[in-house]
Amino acid sequence: MEDNERISAKLAKFRPSLTLAMKETVERRRAAGLPVYDFGLGEAKGELGPELREAGEIAFREQQTIYTDPAGLPELRDAVLDWLGVREHYKIDNVVVSTGAKQSLFNIFLAVCNPSDAVLLDAAPWVSYQPLAVAAYGFPVMVIPPGTRRARLKVTPDDLNRNLDVRPHAKLFLLNNPVNPTAQLYSAAEIEDLLHVCVERRVYFVLDRLYWRILFDGLTYPEPRIDEQTKPWLIQVDGMSKNFNRGGGLRIGWAVAPRDVAKAMINLQSHYTAGPATPTQYVALAALTRPYTGRLAKELQARRDLLLHEAADMPLVDIWPSPATFYSFWDVRRCFGMWTPDGILLRGSDEVANYLLTSAGVVTASGIGFMQNGYLRLSFTAPEEQIVEGMQAVRRALSALRPRFSEDTAAANARLVERTAATVSAACEVGAPV
Ligand code: PMP
Repeated sequence: MEDNERISAKLAKFRPSLTLAMKETVERRRAAGLPVYDFGLGEAKGELGPELREAGEIAFREQQTIYTDPAGLPELRDAVLDWLGVREHYKIDNVVVSTGAKQSLFNIFLAVCNPSDAVLLDAAPWVSYQPLAVAAYGFPVMVIPPGTRRARLKVTPDDLNRNLDVRPHAKLFLLNNPVNPTAQLYSAAEIEDLLHVCVERRVYFVLDRLYWRILFDGLTYPEPRIDEQTKPWLIQVDGMSKNFNRGGGLRIGWAVAPRDVAKAMINLQSHYTAGPATPTQYVALAALTRPYTGRLAKELQARRDLLLHEAADMPLVDIWPSPATFYSFWDVRRCFGMWTPDGILLRGSDEVANYLLTSAGVVTASGIGFMQNGYLRLSFTAPEEQIVEGMQAVRRALSALRPRFSEDTAAANARLVERTAATVSAACEVGAPV
C-alpha cells in the first residue's frame, strides 16, 4: 500500500466541519490572551432547563443506561408526534430518533440513495450536507449554481424542475427552513410549491426544520402540507440542538418519514449506533413533554435587534433581515478589491473573514463553507456586551480598508465578484476548509 492509499480516496478529500475548525481558532486566540468576539458558532449557550438537567440526573441515578429500541425510546418517538403536531398523520413507526440531526440526515441519504443518485441541495447548503451525501455515495448538486443571483438566495420551483429535467437520478431535494446560514424563512406558499414539484416528480422532499422554533416578530412556522399525496415523499428532520439552550451536545435528533424509509433507517441504525445514548433520550423526552416556553426565541430576538442596531450603517456590507434562526447574513462583496492596512487584497469571503479575525478578533463563518462566496454568517448567540464590542471592532476594521483602484472601484469590484463566483465551485470540494 502506498502512503497516499492509507485513507480512502473518498475520505481523504474531507475537511473537518467548518464549525469545528472555527472552534480551534477561537481557542488558540484565547490561549494567547488575544480578544475574541465569537460570532462563529451555531449554538445557544444559555442555561439548559432545570427540568432537563433533572431528567438527565434521574436517568443516571436510575441506571437508564441499557440499550433502547434502535429507533429510540417509544415514549420519545411518541412525544415527537406531538412536538411536531403530526399525530393525526403518523404513528411512532414513522419516527426514528438518532444521534443528532446529522445522523438523521445521513440515515436518510443511506436509506434512499443508490450510488451516484443526485441529492439536490438549496442555494447555500449547510456545511455538512455535502460530506454526508458523498459519504452515502450520493452526488450532491446545488440547484442554483454558486454565484447565481436570486432574491435572498431562495430556490424556486423552476430551479427544481430545471434540475429534475436533467437529472433523472435525483432522489431527493433537501431544504432547510428556516435556512442556516441565510436566516431566511420560506413562506407556506413557497414550501407548498416546492413540495408540489417533488410530489409530481416523485422525489423525496427532505425538510430540515432544525431551527423551526426560533422565529421572530410573531412569525409562525410554515408547516408542509401532509396528506395522502405528500406523505410518501415528505421526510422531516428535527432535533434538540437549536431550539433548546445547550442542546447540541445531547446529540439527539429525529426524522419523521414514510414507513418504508423509516424502517430502512432503523435497520441501518441498529447496526451502527444501536440508537442514541439512553440518558440523553430521557432528557429529550423531558424537553418535548413539557410546554415549550418560547423564551429562547425572545432572548435571541433581543440579541438580533441589538446586533442590527450596533451594525447600523456598517461600511462596505449589506446586512440581510433575519426573520429566524440566530444568524445574521452579510453580503460583503463590496469589500472585495479593498486593501487591508497590512497590504492584503481582499478577494473573497475567506479573506474578509480572516481579516476580521486577525485584525479585530472577530470570528465569523465565511460563505465559502456554504458555497456562497461573497457572504459572511454571524451568529448572535454571544453575550450582549460581546455583540456591542464585537460590532465596534468590525466597524473599525472595515473603516480601515482602502480601495486599490484609481479606476472606477465599483466596476473593478464587480469584475472580481464575477471571477471569484466562477472559481468558487472548483474551490468548493467536499467540506472545503475555511
Ligand atoms: N441541519 C442544520 C441546518 C444545522 O445547522 C445543523 C447543526 N448545526 C444540523 C442539521 C445538525 O444538527 P445536530 O447537531 O442535531 O446533529
